[in-house]
Amino acid sequence: MNNKQNQWSIDDAETTYNVKRWGNGYFDIGESGDINVIPRYDQPNLKINLKEVVDEIQSEGIQFPVVIRFHDILRSQVELLNKTFRNTIEDADYEGQYFGVFPVKVNQMREVIEEIVDAGSRYNYGLEAGSKPELIAALAYNTNKNSLTILNGYKDEEYLRLALLGLKINRKIIIVIEKFSELINLVKLAKSLNVKPLIGLRVKMMVKGRGKWEHSSGERAKFGLSIAEILNAVSYLENEGLSDCIKLLHFHIGSQLTDIRAIKEAVQEASLVYSKLVKLGVPLEYVDVGGGLAIDYDGSQSTNDSSCNYNLAEYVSDIVYGFKQNCDLESVPHPHLVSESGRAMTAHHSCVITNVIGEIHPSGTQYSTKKSTGEHIIVTNMRDLENDLVNADKNNTHQEIFNDVVQLKSQAMQAFKLGIFSLDELAKVETMYWRILNVIEQKTREHDFVPEELNEISEMLSSQYLANFSVFQSAADSWAIDQVLPIVPISRLHEKPSKLCSLVDITCDSDGKIDKFIGQDSVANNIPMHTLKENEDYFIGIFLTGAYQDVMGDMHNLFGRLNEVHIVSYDDDPKDFYIEEVVKGSSVDNVLSTMQYTPAILEQAIKKEIDVQISRGKLKPREGVQLIDFYEDCLKGYTYLK
Ligand SMILES: *Cc1c(COP(=O)(O)O)cnc(C)c1O
Repeated sequence: MNNKQNQWSIDDAETTYNVKRWGNGYFDIGESGDINVIPRYDQPNLKINLKEVVDEIQSEGIQFPVVIRFHDILRSQVELLNKTFRNTIEDADYEGQYFGVFPVKVNQMREVIEEIVDAGSRYNYGLEAGSKPELIAALAYNTNKNSLTILNGYKDEEYLRLALLGLKINRKIIIVIEKFSELINLVKLAKSLNVKPLIGLRVKMMVKGRGKWEHSSGERAKFGLSIAEILNAVSYLENEGLSDCIKLLHFHIGSQLTDIRAIKEAVQEASLVYSKLVKLGVPLEYVDVGGGLAIDYDGSQSTNDSSCNYNLAEYVSDIVYGFKQNCDLESVPHPHLVSESGRAMTAHHSCVITNVIGEIHPSGTQYSTKKSTGEHIIVTNMRDLENDLVNADKNNTHQEIFNDVVQLKSQAMQAFKLGIFSLDELAKVETMYWRILNVIEQKTREHDFVPEELNEISEMLSSQYLANFSVFQSAADSWAIDQVLPIVPISRLHEKPSKLCSLVDITCDSDGKIDKFIGQDSVANNIPMHTLKENEDYFIGIFLTGAYQDVMGDMHNLFGRLNEVHIVSYDDDPKDFYIEEVVKGSSVDNVLSTMQYTPAILEQAIKKEIDVQISRGKLKPREGVQLIDFYEDCLKGYTYLK
């Protein structure tokens, strides 16, 4: 944080929260100190004030936390990906075309799939499914005859039958063989149903991705065929008279590929495998480069796990030019290109907005520290140190006092354990200890140079802001794999934030917290926030939650799905947007029902008990009815805090 007091501008807010850098053109901070959403990449002047969206949600009586979906961002990303491939292909005189597919597992919500299919239809953009349920959805939604449906994941007979059903209704369905035995089942079925399948072969790549998902490739990868298996597959299909069905070569070296070099190496390896197979007479038409296009969650443009050192244009260019060069060298035709970018399509389009409902502060409580007769010397010494503070104006003196109070506090704990220190004395020492640290922290912040140890005081004094959400439902990867997600107050950004905070959620799980934030040079344990004001909401946004986070949440503590608000931009509206749809989140009876409870039986049980109390004269009948009504209202209500 800026050491100078009181001077603060929007630029400082920008450096603190990196909004433009992770925002990818979709977010910035307005002069009013509110976060703006710029939902269309081709209309940079169309700005939606996020605070105004939140105000409108509030005035409609929708409870927080909410997921806000910006449908225009979803469309923008689909258009950008397809246009970038098309333009690069044209510039490079590349002879194949681009047929992207969206991997359904990244966000299976119907509204998301519908919007993506619609925005992608004029680019023949298709879908990728990795399981039977995803395939069942993809069959019904990917109705464009010219777009691909790519099938990955392990496949049983039913999955394969569904795929062949798709072929019978004229869909371009490519079945990617992940495991040799799938091929044998497929050939048997295809012959008995009399359909010619379109077959893809997933190659187990030697090159390793970098980052959290690097195990997706290499010899020990879960999916894919070794080179020996690929050659066996080719001769097996030749013998079965189906070698003309092999259409696609597939690879996927991992998600969130942080380093562009891994992509360059993969393209090199895959283009050689492709070329050699074509020369052997395998009629491959497509190469599918899988997913992995990364999101710069922390805005550092680095190879951090939550970042990446390249952008969309560079990614596409490395793929198109890489295949062109290698195919030209080997004198084979340029294949059509397929990619399965998921994260990059959906991450930006949704965010979680929640309010901070309280503060947990180590030094929050005051206790009278008045001198009492016969008090322990440790208490007296602590009081003397507090008095010394007045004259300490040089850093080294502050450091001395800091060292002394830390020692006194630990002596007090020892004395208490020995039974020679009272609870009253301990409470006094604790109160003075935090008071002194607070003063030292404030004083040292006025200096340009702060000794390293005194910097720690800020951490010791940092607050925990209690926010109305569940990490397990809304930010699963933050808990599971230490994913950094941008977290920013949605307004007051023209004010200097005066507190360092981490976040805790409302689950009763001590893992229910977020303590990894965008820092100045690297990941920080705290994030600067503003002081809470009485009778004023403090809304924060958890951004870039549209990929995986949106759909991976669990039922920990029975906090279910969030209320969802779908926003569409609209130039003619004074606020440039309207709420297109509200999707209600889980109610208490919803989540209880999924755990096999029957709400009516729960209600009966309570009613019976209340009736007993009424018959005993302990409850008035009117009061009893009110209690039952209240229980019923709670059952129908939202699971989060009001
Ligand atoms: C998960 C997955 C994807 C999507 O990866 P992103 O990193 O989200 O783009 C694509 N293809 C396959 C085979 C996958 O398993």
